[in-house]
Amino acid sequence: LSVDYDVIVVGAGISGLTAARELKKMDPSIRILILEAKDRVGGRTHSVELKGAHYSKVTLDLGGQWVGRTQRNILRLLDELGLKTYDQYSEGAKVAQISTSAPRKYNTALPIHSIRQFSLFEIVDTVATLTKLDWLTKRITAPNWFSSKKAVILDEMTVSKWGKENCWTRASLDALDISVRSVYGVEPNRMSMLYNVVVCKSAGGFMNLVECIGEGAQAMRVAGGTQQISIKMLENLEKDTVKLGQAVSAIDVDESSLITTIYTYDVDTKDEASYTCRHVICAIPPHLCGQIRFSPTLPELKRRLFSSCPQGNLVKFLITYETAFWRENGLSGEIISTGRTVTPGEVLPIIATYDATTDMGIPALVGFINEEFCDLPLSERCNAVVTDLSRFLGDDAFKQFIDYKDKIWAHEPFNGGCPNAFVPPGQMDAYQVIRDPFHNVHFAGTESATEWIGYMDGAVQSGWRAAHEVLKCMEKDRLICYNYLKGTIYDNEYEKPSPPSNHYDETRSPWWRRIFFTSALIFGIYAYSKKYQLSMAAKA
Ligand code: FAD
Repeated sequence: LSVDYDVIVVGAGISGLTAARELKKMDPSIRILILEAKDRVGGRTHSVELKGAHYSKVTLDLGGQWVGRTQRNILRLLDELGLKTYDQYSEGAKVAQISTSAPRKYNTALPIHSIRQFSLFEIVDTVATLTKLDWLTKRITAPNWFSSKKAVILDEMTVSKWGKENCWTRASLDALDISVRSVYGVEPNRMSMLYNVVVCKSAGGFMNLVECIGEGAQAMRVAGGTQQISIKMLENLEKDTVKLGQAVSAIDVDESSLITTIYTYDVDTKDEASYTCRHVICAIPPHLCGQIRFSPTLPELKRRLFSSCPQGNLVKFLITYETAFWRENGLSGEIISTGRTVTPGEVLPIIATYDATTDMGIPALVGFINEEFCDLPLSERCNAVVTDLSRFLGDDAFKQFIDYKDKIWAHEPFNGGCPNAFVPPGQMDAYQVIRDPFHNVHFAGTESATEWIGYMDGAVQSGWRAAHEVLKCMEKDRLICYNYLKGTIYDNEYEKPSPPSNHYDETRSPWWRRIFFTSALIFGIYAYSKKYQLSMAAKA
């Protein structure tokens, strides 16, 4: 059977485009089609224009924005695409509202480390909590977490339960809750503690997830916005490689191809278009894989994963100002808040903000809002945010405000949340199979990474991994054609299969190991027979 494409990639986010780019790099003759449901590429990266100071237009990110110094996959890609980074502004004091008290300024990495603002008991408690978290990240070995008994216990509990069992003070518990809300966009009572530990480990430790300096995930920004990453990757691919507005609805294997294991897939879209291919890469988040019909049916754990791994839900906002007045007042623009007041049930919008002033010097702030504000009209949300900002940064937050934009990612079709998926308690056994391919269907997307899970870096790593899985399968297909079909049956790319290579058989031990073990065996038999001869001679 001839097919339309060698590989179909589902999703033109960073992960899908990286997979296509890597495949083309390794073998330019591979025929690839990328099917993207939205009318744009970039997925969870989305750069938009706002009105800036001095009548300028400014491009800022409503999706993925920061990169960290230890995120080697995304940094390498940025370098290859010729995109520049610059440091996140982090000079001056930060402001925190913790333990439902009034905003307090601090200069340390975490507010709770500030001796001027918090009691010694609160500080000791937070340091102890962080030490326990770090100890756990060292105990859990990826990707076989369940080899540790501790992992089973951690997966049974939510982050909130773990916090209540391990934190003694309200302040330290609040700091833990804020970190979960801002990193995963979910309430800590809904997420598996084991997943939190696994993500911390993938990032090299908890502090890397929350810091704006050093090895922190928020240390650098991409000049001109991160959506360029996908746009530039697209430019480097052949014309018509990506079809926009094509949501994949079904992936069916041709049953006759199951016998030869040279699989043929029919990939159908909601617009009733259909394409055939040999390999599929699903570079989309788990809950969206769950909306695709697979035939044959996926294995049980995989199906459970796709139906039980939702996305977090944060609203991201951008706001431009006439001047970076917070810098003039000795503030960094970084705010963290529980989003709660002393009045029970009263919720405030802001969870976190950061300075978003561009490398061209156009003043701006970026931040995240509580999901409770999703249902308000845009004007009311904007008003609530600016009012809350003035509590932390002063009246200028109102007076100097120019433009406001936000995005409710949960409302965007083919996205369903922000910033990424999380795993509820008791589901980590299903999460363990996230990378497992099913026949020639492979799974990418940042959630399936092993480094920086949930980040752009993870998206690059997962796309690269899926591309190499496909290349390996192609090599295997060629081998099958060569051995069993003598390269004559197919009228397609397998017509002239490459000869079988020794590299393919990974289970075969290298020549030096075989020589070593054979010599050791001969020597052993010789030594034993000598010893036996001597003992017989002694007896005689
Ligand atoms: P996606 O970007 O989700 O790409 C999947 C693509 O598949 C989408 O384009 C989607 O439309 C498409 N698709 C889905 N279903 C189908 C279908 N059935 N058929 C066809 N196409 C389909 N990361 C960082 O590193 N730093 C940050 O500062 C950061 N901040 C963030 C802030 C926000 C508000 C958000 C939302 C995310 C943030 N992230 C950040 C996370 C980062 O953006 C993501 O990890 C990364 O972009 C994920 O890339 P991906 O390719 O794995 O998935």
